[in-house]
Amino acid sequence: MVKVTAMDVYKLLPQTNCEKCGEASCMAFATKLSEKEVDLSLCTELSDEKFKKLDDLLAPAVKEIIIGKNDKSCIIGGDEVLYRYEESYYNQTIIAIDVPDDLDQSDFDDRVKKIENIGFERTGEVLTLDAIALRNKSQNPEKFAKCAKKLKSSKYPVFLLTFDTLAMEAALKEIGDERPLIYAACEDNIYEMGNLAIKYQCPITVSSPNDLEKMKDMVFTLKSLGVEDIVMDPGTLAGEAIGDTLDNFVMSRRLAIEEKDENFRYPILGIPTLVRLNNEDDEIKKSIMEATLASTLINKYADIIILKGTEIWELIPILTLRQSVYTDPRRPQSVDPGIYEFGEVDKHSPVILTTNFSLTFYTVEGDLKSGNATCYLLVLDTVGRAVDVAIAGGQFDGKAVADLIKDTGIENNINTRKMVIPGLAAPLSGEIEDETGWNVMVGPRDSSAAAEFIAEKF
Ligand code: SF4
Repeated sequence: MVKVTAMDVYKLLPQTNCEKCGEASCMAFATKLSEKEVDLSLCTELSDEKFKKLDDLLAPAVKEIIIGKNDKSCIIGGDEVLYRYEESYYNQTIIAIDVPDDLDQSDFDDRVKKIENIGFERTGEVLTLDAIALRNKSQNPEKFAKCAKKLKSSKYPVFLLTFDTLAMEAALKEIGDERPLIYAACEDNIYEMGNLAIKYQCPITVSSPNDLEKMKDMVFTLKSLGVEDIVMDPGTLAGEAIGDTLDNFVMSRRLAIEEKDENFRYPILGIPTLVRLNNEDDEIKKSIMEATLASTLINKYADIIILKGTEIWELIPILTLRQSVYTDPRRPQSVDPGIYEFGEVDKHSPVILTTNFSLTFYTVEGDLKSGNATCYLLVLDTVGRAVDVAIAGGQFDGKAVADLIKDTGIENNINTRKMVIPGLAAPLSGEIEDETGWNVMVGPRDSSAAAEFIAEKF
């Protein structure tokens, strides 16, 4: 697929440079529109016809779909590229946890509560789960509907998992106004499920395990019925090997992005927890297999995954990978430069220097906190680059450190003029001393030894 350029967009704008959108010119607005940094509606000077043309031009290759409503919702899809380095991936993979409807009441409540409470902090962001996948394991429509009703009080959007249209309708009667994801339409129930999706205005999943031709026909059928918000399930582990799953996911996304095939321009759903079915391995091995499959599908190109595991050790690798895949490669992740305090600092506390690359900062922060260090951390603006990269790029040198000392006023906080620089910045120690007049000590290359270094040297 050819990427829409700023010039393509500019040609359809009024070109009057009226500045009502907040930009200095139509070209500046076009550039931001093509980079998805502003919304088209900010240009108030467009005719309806031009707005529609631009809206179509800027529509992502993969349709954006909202599951849930208001503050209990998530967005999936919206991707434009096959490879993250080409632009960025948008709307991170939604992670839903399977909750069977045959659990007794207290186990059901405990599982939902556990899902809602899972979260851990990494590089300043709290990573959590996103949705609850209620499965009609009981095969009893009443039970399914009762559990769906209970989930009205959950803080997460809900997926309803059953091929039974009676059970689906019973659950939708309870929770349909919250826009749950219907899972799933298959060859046998497509008209009934499609009509439920229209009646309750809910997004719907099409299940076509290991058969993309059939998937295409079914998506076309749903669209003919008037369904707009579709999710595709090309099958997880439906073929002979995991390679078949991956092939189906990759081919579906290629058809959307490279071919702009209208019947594949939808988000994709994977169910890594199926790896546990008919599996004689022990629970730990099954958890590892589930995490491995989840990671594979997050990379290529699942917009939703459904898991069973709720232990934090099972989820940390998956949540961490997702966070990394969905950061924007065009913008280095950074924190604000300046002075950060650890412990009860005073006029004699040591000063440690680091860069504002978020991964570096949060690693150093974690190491100083866990080592109970008392110090000032002076954070240099290296436009989000790590120490060695910033030195090579010219953002980290003696002059930059001297400016940082001046700008932050750190000399008012302390009597000493001693600074610990990262081990990787050792070649700059003389230059920093010359530019700042401070006494520079070269610290460890790895911040895990920083707290111990401070305790020993100060
Ligand atoms: S509001 Fe529209 S016409 Fe005016 S400068 Fe912005 S893009 Fe151009």
